[in-house]
Amino acid sequence: MPTKTAKTTCATGLKCDDCGTEYPLSERVNTCPSCGGLLDVTYDLPAMSRDDLITSLAGRSLTVWRWREFLPIQDPANIVSLGEGYSPLLKCEQIGGSLGLPDLFVKNDSVSPTGSLKDRSFAIAVSKAKELGVSQAFTYSSGNAGISLAAYASRARMKAVVAVNAWASAQKILMMQALGAEVIKLDWDSFEQVDKALASLRGKLRLYEFVNFVNPFRHEGQKTYAYEICEQLGWQVPDYMIHPIGTGGGIFATWKGFNELKRVGVIKKTPRMIGVQPAACAPLVDAFLRGSREAVPTGDAKATIAQSIASDMPFDRGRRPLRAVYESDGAMVAVTDEQIVASILMLGQEGIYSEPAGAATIAGAQMLVRQGVIEPGATVVCVVTGSGLKQPDVLQGMLKEPVAFKADSVELVEHVKGLFGDKKAFSH
Ligand SMILES: *Cc1c(COP(=O)(O)O)cnc(C)c1O
Ligand SMILES: [Zn+2]
Repeated sequence: MPTKTAKTTCATGLKCDDCGTEYPLSERVNTCPSCGGLLDVTYDLPAMSRDDLITSLAGRSLTVWRWREFLPIQDPANIVSLGEGYSPLLKCEQIGGSLGLPDLFVKNDSVSPTGSLKDRSFAIAVSKAKELGVSQAFTYSSGNAGISLAAYASRARMKAVVAVNAWASAQKILMMQALGAEVIKLDWDSFEQVDKALASLRGKLRLYEFVNFVNPFRHEGQKTYAYEICEQLGWQVPDYMIHPIGTGGGIFATWKGFNELKRVGVIKKTPRMIGVQPAACAPLVDAFLRGSREAVPTGDAKATIAQSIASDMPFDRGRRPLRAVYESDGAMVAVTDEQIVASILMLGQEGIYSEPAGAATIAGAQMLVRQGVIEPGATVVCVVTGSGLKQPDVLQGMLKEPVAFKADSVELVEHVKGLFGDKKAFSH
């Protein structure tokens, strides 16, 4: 990382969470070949000061690739990029005012290349797959992951096949197809059937997987949230980070990112990590409230509008995201669809159009302030993970029907005047 020894990556290999076996970065593996556990990328990061880091960042692109030493790509020629990362960190004074949080920020990933945070993770995973000589790209997705995979695979000249739930949003499917993927629909009653189908595809076709955590590189992309947020706050650390949780890749990754910055010496403390799930389907929140480090299946994934975080069968029993929450002295909270819709409209007041999963973070902040978990003076960052353009139908029928006029109608002027309400609006 220091300028004198600047290198492409400080990654040293892959290590199994469960048995500790290490594998070289050049080995094409998904989960641990010896025990089936999840793999994580290890790094040998040199110690440095804030000044060292700022110097080494000078002149680099404002994308996830700004942090190349913290990413697992060995040869920059393999980088596949659509300009992902470095989304705006927006101070939200109106929402902050109504929630009693004057220092509330939104990390707005709705402006990502395909409209969600998944672009961070697929930029890294597809680049790494290219480096490993993988020529096929398959994933199972509730929507956004398939869209990102489609985009990055096309750009890497890989064939992409995406399996979606039979009830996936039509907009999301069209977007995958427009970005070059083949889409298949899977109907199922219990998620175990999906697990079995995926395992059989993996076994019979020797497919390289892009599913979160089964692919050891996706969360390396999401951890760039930590670096960006610190830099955008002038190398300060927020008190709370609020993430929506599906598999929990995002919260686990951001926690990893903050710890790496602490390890190299650039920051002294780390934030408390907060996870948010929809009340209809909140296995990790249940586990947290029980004080458990392992979640069990519960809830109904079809019973919430927050599709991107609707997961009733927690992957790997939710162990990684729960670890991030416990280690950081954080919390998990469930929010209702009504609270999510209200939060979408609050974000609208700040000029941000969020999909339900992203807006859940604002609802979560509100709950935790009410419960006294988050104190009013705290610096809070809510990650808005996806654009409302992905699921515009969730607001159908909830907002005022626009009044219709004939263009030559005499009532038109009075009506528009009434809409502005304030006489001063017409004073010049
Ligand atoms: C995938 C996704 C999430 C959840 O991310 P995990 O890493 O699976 O927890 C949240 N919001 C949106 C918009 C997503 O697409
Ligand atoms: Zn293992």
